[in-house]
Amino acid sequence: MLEDPTRTGQGDRVGAGDAPLGSHVSTRGGVERAPARSGDIGADAMQIFTSAPQRWSASRISNESAAAFRAGVIEAGIRTTVAHDSYLINLATDRDDLLARSISAFNAELERASLLGLDFLVTHPGNATGGNRAEASNQNARAVAAALASFPDGPTVLFETTAGAGTALGSRFDELALILERIPAKLSDRVGVCLDTAHVFAAGYDLESDPISVLDAFDRDIGLDRLRLFHLNDSVGALGSRRDRHANIGEGNIGTEAFGCLLRDSRVAHVPGILETPKGDDPAASDRRNLEMLRALSAGPSDG
Ligand SMILES: [Zn+2]
Ligand SMILES: [Zn+2]
Repeated sequence: MLEDPTRTGQGDRVGAGDAPLGSHVSTRGGVERAPARSGDIGADAMQIFTSAPQRWSASRISNESAAAFRAGVIEAGIRTTVAHDSYLINLATDRDDLLARSISAFNAELERASLLGLDFLVTHPGNATGGNRAEASNQNARAVAAALASFPDGPTVLFETTAGAGTALGSRFDELALILERIPAKLSDRVGVCLDTAHVFAAGYDLESDPISVLDAFDRDIGLDRLRLFHLNDSVGALGSRRDRHANIGEGNIGTEAFGCLLRDSRVAHVPGILETPKGDDPAASDRRNLEMLRALSAGPSDG
């Protein structure tokens, strides 16, 4: 019998350990400082905010900073680059003033991500402030589609799964599927989903006891080909609690076994992963520790 060299000898775990992994890193001192921070912790994936996430006003990124950033990404060996958009943006709102501000801020997010040459822009699917979730989902899809059309060379927009607190959209896979379906076909390869493990767990998907079934549900409702990024966070919040609080890998209610499963499942083993775990007093040390944990888990359980 022929040996397939890509197999690790662990059943269907082809490609295990290949996915780019990293963390959300600070842009303190300028966006061009971020790639070295990622390189410093041994990451080959990176997420940043391109502006302060709690403020509407955003400072411009100069062409010089952008060029330095792009050079830094190559130098640090970063394979997957991601921006997370501002927390204030709500493209699903029925309030005209908030919608106008959100559209303008989201376009600016896409513009900055394009300038930096980023692969992905992660966005929350918004809040149904008007109470009608279907209309809010429509509104969100319309706004994202219009923005994407304005930036033909921009990043792929990823709708993030949410914990579902309050009126937040996107805590159910079928709801995310409806948003994706409403993106016009000619733009559909520029949208996808970011699965945040802590959020889906808090939303009621039991990653702790049955991660395979959660992937199956995602595949059934959305299709795993649309899963382009993981946010790999353990959860302080209990299953179904809708409480969005992240824990270090192995220190929350999800536990290491589930992360190992996600990192080794042949259907998603290639999907890049970003940590958004607590930074503590020493962000680099904390990121490094969580990253080492993920790499060990993606290599498979140790024998004995
Ligand atoms: Zn998020
Ligand atoms: Zn997240």
